Amino acid sequence: PGVRGLAPYEPGKPIDELRREYGVSEVVKLASNESPLGPSPRAAEAASAAGAAAHRYPDGNGFALKAAVAERHGVPPERVTLGNGSNDVLVLLAQAFLGPGRTAVFSAHAFAVYPIATQTVGATARVVPALPAEAEQPYGHDLEAMLAAVDETVSVVFVANPNNPTGTWLTEGELRGFLDRLPARVIAVVDEAYFEYAAAEPGYPDASRWLEAYPNLVVTRSFSKVYGLAGLRVGYGLSHPAVADLLNRVRQPFNCSAPAQEAAAAALADEAHTRRAVALNDEQRRILREGLEAMGLRVLPSAANFLTFYAGEQAAQIHEGLLRRGVIIRPVAGYDLAGWLRVSVGTAAENRTFLEALAELRPGAA
Ligand code: PMP
Repeated sequence: PGVRGLAPYEPGKPIDELRREYGVSEVVKLASNESPLGPSPRAAEAASAAGAAAHRYPDGNGFALKAAVAERHGVPPERVTLGNGSNDVLVLLAQAFLGPGRTAVFSAHAFAVYPIATQTVGATARVVPALPAEAEQPYGHDLEAMLAAVDETVSVVFVANPNNPTGTWLTEGELRGFLDRLPARVIAVVDEAYFEYAAAEPGYPDASRWLEAYPNLVVTRSFSKVYGLAGLRVGYGLSHPAVADLLNRVRQPFNCSAPAQEAAAAALADEAHTRRAVALNDEQRRILREGLEAMGLRVLPSAANFLTFYAGEQAAQIHEGLLRRGVIIRPVAGYDLAGWLRVSVGTAAENRTFLEALAELRPGAA
């Protein structure tokens, strides 16, 4: 029944599908929060080189990548769990800590994989109403309400910081206050898939530094966003070694492919590329926001690499009109945000194409 109650995850329309269906040749895809810079050339080379040894299984323990991740965070490798994308780590957490009779708590309008991971293992998803539209972080997590939702059946709480699809974020004080009051037997998953983009916000919390203080804390990170490796599927979790040991027991053998491991290690090492990706995002997110606001549209605050804006009753029509013009963005009605659309931050040229196409559709006009 938990599985039947799920809606399948709906990804942004693939570029080739748009070409086929709409006959457009130039496609701008700003639908999946991918890096417009692409991967570091060193990461791309590493992945290709790994392809020549594709007949061999990958290192099932991910020795080199775990060591690189551990060094980056100043923690021992025993705290690192590698995944086939950070989604995989979320699923491992559900497999290890949830099940029939148990409950996971997360916010309304939070990332779509939390209910999938929870209900797949027969656990109950307790969705807590988000902050109101007028809040400083509209539709963001209401941590007080999430704490109040924790009873003895709850074994996992998912917190996305920043959250997708709202882009909203939590301060260090809010997040630490929450972790301080959460019962220690509850696993607190802080999903930091967009961390690198958000880190420049003043006072932005880096939960990966708090692992010693909270043995129940699991921080997840992704190589799909700022590192530009979404197509290879690689992410990781940082946790107490005892938690990592449990995740390692439920993990599929070889859940992280060899090209993914090689590319991720090379991407971590190419810090200049990461800095360029963050700088591009900072600049273009501001330009994109100004363009949307100049059209009179309401845009949610965002610390990530996307902006979510209100198109009201015209949302579906605007989404479709953009597709006809070769621009793919993402409706977020499925996240219980009817009327809102999410656009990923692209290159200057991609963002211009999007804004021009949107202006032609005249959102906000009666
Ligand atoms: N968490 C959040 C909040 C996300 O938006 C995403 C990507 N859409 C992920 C996790 C998963 O990313 P991946 O599996 O590609 O690492």
